[in-house]
Amino acid sequence: MRDEQNCRLTTPLSKDVAIQRRQKLLETLRELPHLDKDRGGKAAAVFFSQKVATRNSDVEHGYRPNSDVYFLTGFAEPEVTLVLLPGREEGEVVLFLRPRDEVAEVWNGRRLGLERAPEALGVDQVFLSSELEQKLPTLLYGRQSVACAMSEEGVAARVATFVQQARRYAAKKGWAPSSIVDVSGILYPQRLLKDAHEIERLQAAVKLSGEGHVQAMRICAPGVTERALEAELIHTFLRGGAKRHGYNPIVAAGDNACILHYDENEDIAEDGELILIDAGAEVDHLTGDITRTFPANGKFNKAQKELYQIVLDANEAAIEKVVIGNSWDDIHNCAREVLAAGLVKLGLLDGDAASLTTKVRGEKDPAWGQGKAPIDRFYMHGTGHWLGMDVHDVGLYHVGKDKTHLAAGMTLTIEPGLYIPDDDDIPAEYRNIGIRIEDNILVTAKGPQNLSEDCPKSIEAIEALVGSGR
Ligand code: MG
Ligand code: ZN
Repeated sequence: MRDEQNCRLTTPLSKDVAIQRRQKLLETLRELPHLDKDRGGKAAAVFFSQKVATRNSDVEHGYRPNSDVYFLTGFAEPEVTLVLLPGREEGEVVLFLRPRDEVAEVWNGRRLGLERAPEALGVDQVFLSSELEQKLPTLLYGRQSVACAMSEEGVAARVATFVQQARRYAAKKGWAPSSIVDVSGILYPQRLLKDAHEIERLQAAVKLSGEGHVQAMRICAPGVTERALEAELIHTFLRGGAKRHGYNPIVAAGDNACILHYDENEDIAEDGELILIDAGAEVDHLTGDITRTFPANGKFNKAQKELYQIVLDANEAAIEKVVIGNSWDDIHNCAREVLAAGLVKLGLLDGDAASLTTKVRGEKDPAWGQGKAPIDRFYMHGTGHWLGMDVHDVGLYHVGKDKTHLAAGMTLTIEPGLYIPDDDDIPAEYRNIGIRIEDNILVTAKGPQNLSEDCPKSIEAIEALVGSGR
């Protein structure tokens, strides 16, 4: 699959795949039940790719396109707006993009431009990004509703401005959108079920992510800096053909591992400490998301080993629950029960698994404001999430009171952990230990397929690996 012509690991998203995806979405928009089809009125959908963001002074952040826009076009330039208008005679797929610009292209990079875009991307009609304010309201005229990514910052407000404009025209001539709807029920079910193209690239991303973890473990020794381990990750990812990290990597030595989203990565790993790395490579806009925890000196001590084995047992038991028809509750309850039972054996909890994982009335978890179960003191996050173009990928976990049931083609993480606080009532040897083991799983008709299985996680395999490449 490696493209020999350049350093990419996979070929980019093809026009044909993007067209198929858009066709499917157009079909969904046509079928939206609340629409009055007799009036010819249909939904529209609008997706925006951001501008390049300034980092400081005239330095810019590296650009990463909007996931929905890339999913539907394979087009990675900034300042793109994709508009889908089912049934429109002049064309159902309209794209706003930047113009060719000789000077800008010399300074900042190549652009596709208006002339080449229809053929290159298979879209029907193109306009300049600078024409968006003027053109989009007229495109929305005659539509009943507009779908957009309401969970993205500023998007609903931006679409509302265009709808407001369209309604001004509509007051005299007819009608215009009366509602803005979220794409979570429209596009995200489609993104939740990965197609063959995505599965292939996600597999490549996860494999490369695992190689980064292995490399970090190989060069590790007491005294290594978190930053040096991060350097091994990025070196492996980029050399292997990834464009970037899929998210800010967590490289956490010792008690830093008890900070769930620690990403300062500027501490030193001391002899006797564990190191938790949570990192993933992004390949063609799909990301891996693996966590491994290992001893800096290559040997787990007794307390570390005891806790690690509990988390590993929970990880393996929860992976077994990733079967068609199961829900996140099945997975999460399983992980919590295994963790609770393990902590009872160590004397860190007292009671039966059921009561330790049940919320105590009146007890408030300060983070979530919900009832708190005894296990939450040591395990306060979910057991996983959808994985794809976004590390916490789109897709509902529950639909109202109904659970989302796993289906073939869904991809997700399984990541139980234990985070032991520095509290007086806890035996000293267990305090300040943070452990998480995270794998990436594809739901298949044959059961869970662990995409990250090449990345070692047993105690023996990790002890053999740490420091072996020095
Ligand atoms: Mg992770
Ligand atoms: Zn994760």
